[in-house]
Amino acid sequence: METSPEVIAGLIQKVLEELAAPTPAGKAEGANGLYPTVNDAVEAGLVAQKKLIAMSLERRKDIIASIRNSVLNHNEEMSAMAIEETHLGRYEDKVRENILCATKTPGVEDIEPRALSGDHGLMLLEYAPVGLIGSLTPITNPTGTLINNSIGMISAGNAIVFNAHPSARRTSTTMLQIIHQAIVDAGGPVGLVSSVANPTLDTAKEVIEHPKINMLVATGGRPIVNIVLRSGKKAVGAGAGNPPALVDETAIIRKAAQCIVSGASINNGIFCTCEKEVIVVEEVADSLIKNMQETGRVYLLNPVEVEKVTKLVVTPERKINGKYIGKNVQVILHDIGVEVGEECRLAIFDAPKDHPLVWLEQMMPVLPIVRVKDFNEGVELAVKVEQGNRHTAIMHSTHVEHMTTFARAVQTTIFIKNGPSFAGIGLGGEGHTSFTIAGPTGEGLTSARTFTRQRRCTLVESFRII
Ligand code: NAD
Repeated sequence: METSPEVIAGLIQKVLEELAAPTPAGKAEGANGLYPTVNDAVEAGLVAQKKLIAMSLERRKDIIASIRNSVLNHNEEMSAMAIEETHLGRYEDKVRENILCATKTPGVEDIEPRALSGDHGLMLLEYAPVGLIGSLTPITNPTGTLINNSIGMISAGNAIVFNAHPSARRTSTTMLQIIHQAIVDAGGPVGLVSSVANPTLDTAKEVIEHPKINMLVATGGRPIVNIVLRSGKKAVGAGAGNPPALVDETAIIRKAAQCIVSGASINNGIFCTCEKEVIVVEEVADSLIKNMQETGRVYLLNPVEVEKVTKLVVTPERKINGKYIGKNVQVILHDIGVEVGEECRLAIFDAPKDHPLVWLEQMMPVLPIVRVKDFNEGVELAVKVEQGNRHTAIMHSTHVEHMTTFARAVQTTIFIKNGPSFAGIGLGGEGHTSFTIAGPTGEGLTSARTFTRQRRCTLVESFRII
C-alpha cells in the first residue's frame, strides 16, 4: 500500500468519521468506551462485566469473533495511524502484527474446564473471571497489545480498563473504540473495554491504585512492571528483553543469516522479542556476516561508521537515544552521512563484548555481532547479556546437546531454534500469539487462562459410568 502523508491522512479521517457516527448504543457518555475519569470507566466496567458473565458462552464467542473481524477490517487505517502518531516501526509490519493478534490470540476455548473422575467421585475445575482488569499498554504495540489483551481477557469473562502510553494515546484510544463498537455490534455490553479519553501517567496511577480493579497487567519496561508488582494486587508483568541470537559452528549459516536479518529488522526492531545482538563462534563469523550481506537487506558498518552510529544512538550516560528508536535504517545511516537504498533493513557491525548496544535494549535496526572463541564462551556471554529478563533467546545450530545446554542456561520464556525471533510469537511458528509475554511473573505467553482464577467443585459420590 502507498503510505504517503495524504493517503495516511485519508485513512485516518475515514476511521474517525466512522467512529463519530451514531451507534446502536446511542450517543450517551461512554457509548464509545471512553470516559471522562478513571472512576467512570471503572464503574462502567463493573456493570459490563456482570452483564458479560450473565450471557451464554456462545454469545461470548460471538463477541470475540466480532472483535477479530473488526480489527481485520480496520487494519490498514490503524496501522497507518500507529506509524503517524508514534513514528515507530514499519507500516507493513504493523499490518502483520494486527493480523497475528486478531487471528492467533486464543479465545473462549482456552478456558475449557477440566474434570477428573475416580473412586471418590467427580472433581470439576473451572477458570473463573477475575472481574475488572487494569491494563497498561506500551507505545511499541499501541494496537497489538490492546487487541491481544481484549480478546484474551474478555474470553475469560473479564472487563478491562485500559491506560495506554500517553504518546500512543490517539492510536490506542481509537483502537479501543473500534473494539468497543465490535462488542456492542455483537450484542455485548457497553463499557466492557474502557479507558479515560486522555490517558496519562496520572491516570495510569489511578488505575493501579483503584480499589475496584482486581488485577493489573503491565506490558512495558522494567520500572512499570516493578510498580504493578508493588501494588498489592494480583499482577502480571510483561517486561523488557534483550534477546541474544547464538550461532555455533554447526549451524546452517545461510539459513541462520536470513532468519537473523528478518527477525532483527521486523518493525525496525521494536518487538521486545527481536534479536538485539548476535553472538557467533569465531570459526563461522565471517561466513555469517557474508551471508547476511548476501540477503541484500543489510549494510555492514566499517569501524569509523560504528563509532559514529554509536555516538548517535547511545547518549553519554550510556542510554538509548529515543530519537532513533523504531526508525528506518535509512534515517539512522543518513544522520552519519551514509545513504542506502530502500531494500536495506538493517545495519550490522562487528562489536566488542562491552559495546553498549550489546547490553542495552536498542529497539532499532542496528545489530551488533560479537565473536566468541567457542560455544561455551558464547553461552556464558549470551546468558549475561540476557540479564535475567527471562524473555527471549534464539539459537542457530544443528547440535542438539548445544541447543539444550543453552536453553537450560538462559532460562528464557521463549527459546527459538533455527528460526527468526518472531516464530516464537506464532508468526511463522507453531503456537498462539501474545503481545503480553510475562517473563518476570512467569505466566509466559499470556492467554485467556492467565486472566482467570481457578475454582474447584468436588462431588463426593460415585459419578462414574464405568
Ligand atoms: P514503558 O514502560 O515506558 O510504558 C509501558 C506502559 O506503562 C505505558 O502505558 C506507560 O504509560 C506506563 N507507565 C510507564 N511508566 C509509568 C509510571 N511511572 N507510572 C505509571 N505508568 C507508567 O514502555 P514502552 O516504552 O511503552 O514500551 C517498550 C518497552 O516495553 C520495551 O522495554 C519492551 O521490551 C517492552 N515490551 C514488552 C512486551 C512483553 O510482552 N514482554 C511487549 C511489548 C513491549
